[in-house]
Amino acid sequence: MNASSPAVLNGPFDLTYDSLTAVLPKSASGVFAIGYVDGLDRFRVQRVGRAGADIREQLRTLIGSGNQFKYRLTMTEREAFEIECALFHKLRPPSNISHPDRPRGSGWRCPHCLQYHR
Ligand SMILES: [Zn+2]
Repeated sequence: MNASSPAVLNGPFDLTYDSLTAVLPKSASGVFAIGYVDGLDRFRVQRVGRAGADIREQLRTLIGSGNQFKYRLTMTEREAFEIECALFHKLRPPSNISHPDRPRGSGWRCPHCLQYHR
């Protein structure tokens, strides 16, 4: 399995408090996409993001910014960052104005562009 393939997100699920509680574990890192299902049953991504410590809590702060979400849990925030970058470059979500950020001093590189090349 290609870890950076955007095709491996779970969902979509409703972006509601109850749904987040039912679907996601506590205190897990992961990557997510927020969007909606269009009239042709396609999931349209509006924004992508990640959480290093608690994806459930992170998505709770985004309730109201979209109708549905997809997600994938990761072992580390760095893994979430790399998938987030892949989704960002592939999908160009309209609500992601700038490139995914990285923690200061982490040295992480985007595998898909030269945004962080040192
Ligand atoms: Zn990049």
